[in-house]
Amino acid sequence: MKQEKIIKARTKLAASLPSTTEILRGSLLHRRIRHRSGCAVCAKGPGHPVWVLTISYPGGRTKQISLSAEQKVLVQQSLRNYRKLKDTLERICELNLQLLRPEKHA
Ligand SMILES: [Zn+2]
Repeated sequence: MKQEKIIKARTKLAASLPSTTEILRGSLLHRRIRHRSGCAVCAKGPGHPVWVLTISYPGGRTKQISLSAEQKVLVQQSLRNYRKLKDTLERICELNLQLLRPEKHA
């Protein structure tokens, strides 16, 4: 790719970046919780479905947060934003790499 083309592609990618504030890292898990006693729902059925956000940290530490149905939708969107942001930044970095060595990618 020519230098000019690379710069254009880079500008386009930067313009397509999602929100940099509505972001979350982690994965969304679907779980069921069961009450041991005194719950009619659990006595009859498979329990209560819940969504949990799991975030892992270096060293194997993780955090888990249970979400309300309302939060789940927002979290899903934030996870998508984060992934797209990360992916787009990675692609911009690749283009910048090509700009460092234009002769090898001409
Ligand atoms: Zn229950």
